[in-house]
Amino acid sequence: MTLVDQFQRRISYLRLSVTDRCDLRCAYCMPEQQQFLPRKDVLSLEELHQLALGFIARGVTKLRLTGGEPLVRRDMIELVRALGRKLGDGLEELTLTTNGTRLATFAEDLHAAGVRRINVSLDTLDRAKFAELARRDSLPQVLEGIVAAQAAGLKVKLNTVALKGINRDEIPALMDWAHGRSIDLTLIEVMPLGEVETDRFDHYLPLSEVRADLERRYSLSDSVHRTGGPARYADVAETGGRIGFITPLTNNFCEGCNRVRVTATGQLHPCLGGTEQVDLRAALRSANPDAALSAALDEAMRIKPERHHFRIDQRGAAPALARHMSTTGG
Ligand code: SAM
Ligand code: SF4
Repeated sequence: MTLVDQFQRRISYLRLSVTDRCDLRCAYCMPEQQQFLPRKDVLSLEELHQLALGFIARGVTKLRLTGGEPLVRRDMIELVRALGRKLGDGLEELTLTTNGTRLATFAEDLHAAGVRRINVSLDTLDRAKFAELARRDSLPQVLEGIVAAQAAGLKVKLNTVALKGINRDEIPALMDWAHGRSIDLTLIEVMPLGEVETDRFDHYLPLSEVRADLERRYSLSDSVHRTGGPARYADVAETGGRIGFITPLTNNFCEGCNRVRVTATGQLHPCLGGTEQVDLRAALRSANPDAALSAALDEAMRIKPERHHFRIDQRGAAPALARHMSTTGG
């Protein structure tokens, strides 16, 4: 039976975190001294595989591997290969979100396993700014990774968090750079998830303002293009490319939500912005894992909330949720 929540939303998309660890420390995402999940609690490769199969059996057709940084997990490519075998057999798309630092090593393997599209997160093309924001001097590796991904035949999309005082002025140049390489760019509003050293209020930038900035220099026309996520797109006449806007704060998109997220320790979070959770690891380790997993997914459908309630309207406010995006699986 397919997964449908109490608001009649069909859940067909799983974002599965394979690790909450990362080789970068993006300032809006996590603190320098992040408390990672205990290694002993993290699901094994076999458990991640079994769990994904359980979702596919319940009608999930799209699977995105994420983290943390998915490519820092050593056995990650084995999982991609195993899941790639389900493509055309229940699974329609297998993809991942990555910071790109290890893409040059894995791009060909990903393509060979059946991955066709990937999202790469990149907030600036300025090396010094990158080093400051990500707290690691890794821009050259990321750029090398993007080149390698395209050479391997992967369709690359860039995700950029729009940040006041950090990359606002650079967004047009980032868009030109991406579109010049046949890469679509999607902008994201920063969300109040987990404690970080900076105050997100100081950097929160409503995308309505970014769009107005862009419209002073480019002709944007709304597009009907959709990728199964919350992004809304516009075509840019001058570049021939597409720009996406993900607006969790200025424009709530929860009514069309089709996804759930699972952490590397097997906790299912039916909403990125909610405290609801279902323990899939316990189900996987029970006497009858298939039945227990299916029952746990039914429970997730019962508790999936109607919407999140993110706000960034006050300096010094606590995050909407203690859990970082890197733990939930971005
Ligand atoms: N490490 C991988 C990466 O950076 O692409 C995958 C995980 S990361 C948590 C996924 C996405 O979440 C990235 O595009 C990142 O920019 C975004 N992100 C992280 N923290 C965020 C926050 N507080 N608000 C909005 N986006 C955030
Ligand atoms: Fe790592 Fe991605 Fe978070 Fe940056 S956004 S710290 S790359 S998990």
